[in-house]
Amino acid sequence: MADGFHADMGPQYEGEVIRKENLYIEFGGPKVARKFELATVKSPEEVENERIELIGPDLKDFTEGGSYPLAILVDVAGSELDKDAEAIIERRIHMFTNYTEGWYHMNQRQDMWLRMNQDCHKKGFESLRELGEILSFLYTSELSIIESIQITLVTDDKKIEELLPHALEVYTARDERTRTLRDEDVDTFYGCVLCQSFAPTHLSVITPDRIANCGAINWFDGRSAAKIDPEGPIFAIPKGDLIDPIKGEYSGVNKIESERSMATYDRVYLYSAFEHPHTSCGCFEAIVFYIPEADGFGVVNRDFKGETVIGETFSHMAGDTSGGRQVEGRLGTGLEQLMSPKFIQADGGRKRIVWLPKEIKERYKEAFEADGVYDKIPTEEDVKNTDELMEFLEKVGHPWIAGEVELPE
Ligand code: ZN
Repeated sequence: MADGFHADMGPQYEGEVIRKENLYIEFGGPKVARKFELATVKSPEEVENERIELIGPDLKDFTEGGSYPLAILVDVAGSELDKDAEAIIERRIHMFTNYTEGWYHMNQRQDMWLRMNQDCHKKGFESLRELGEILSFLYTSELSIIESIQITLVTDDKKIEELLPHALEVYTARDERTRTLRDEDVDTFYGCVLCQSFAPTHLSVITPDRIANCGAINWFDGRSAAKIDPEGPIFAIPKGDLIDPIKGEYSGVNKIESERSMATYDRVYLYSAFEHPHTSCGCFEAIVFYIPEADGFGVVNRDFKGETVIGETFSHMAGDTSGGRQVEGRLGTGLEQLMSPKFIQADGGRKRIVWLPKEIKERYKEAFEADGVYDKIPTEEDVKNTDELMEFLEKVGHPWIAGEVELPE
């Protein structure tokens, strides 16, 4: 065991899933209101190297099997590091926690979800500080660009509440950077295989118009990752030739898709949910789903707990969508994707959306308003099933149902 830790670590533990029967404790996830993870690049004098701080109760203070709030703050400094690297360093929390025997990490940002199993506890893993120490150890051994690192773990819900607004601002600022950059403006896309431990045929293609499925890595982040860790899970994809500008098919993307999916797939449409849609891992922020009755699409995000208009919940649908497959009419995606003018453009784009959770409709109001469909899209408050959906769409004259949306040619 490395350096006296109570848990072994390495990529062999990445696919470990922790089921209820073997659960010791869980942090974040759907049962916990406030949780987040944030990496910040600071100046050397602001980082006390190898300092691990825990604010709030520790493992021994919690009830076994319970779910608790947690924030993980990773502060780093290094002469070669700039702000561009933050999202990438932050995403490694996912990888390194999964490297740790007996630990599991899912999702990202304010949706993160960690689990620790019984066996790990039995081996003497008694303090959350040890998770901080393991992360610190893995960061410094895997990323030489990091010269100093301090990690703060917060389990005090009040403190998390106080820190969360800043984290949300940082996430938004990162997302906004790519909003004016288009796929045609760059020669290089990026690929991410961080999710292959769970979805072996999955490759997230990251372009200016397409954030990674997890919603945590945009094109700028991809560029930074490929630079700071060229051998790492995020790498450059030369775009190659544009085979189909409407569907978003690129020869360079097809080639990498084939190489990295063990030849399971050799074509990807970046701008369509049909024929050769992008693969879906398991950590996608949302699912774009086809609704046959309306011949339109709905979108459901991970945080939406109820049934969608087709009677399925997010988690039910995720089971049919995930695993690294291309599923026609089912697209695991990052929510920021909704802002792109290329979002399923071959299929009619945002104008073909006929159902949204209220929260998502509000969050992306501007984009739906610009397309003239904001008032035409019902939410869980307006319709409960596809009969009510069709009635609503006809009553308001949704442009897709009214036949007013022309597909690009
Ligand atoms: Zn993923």
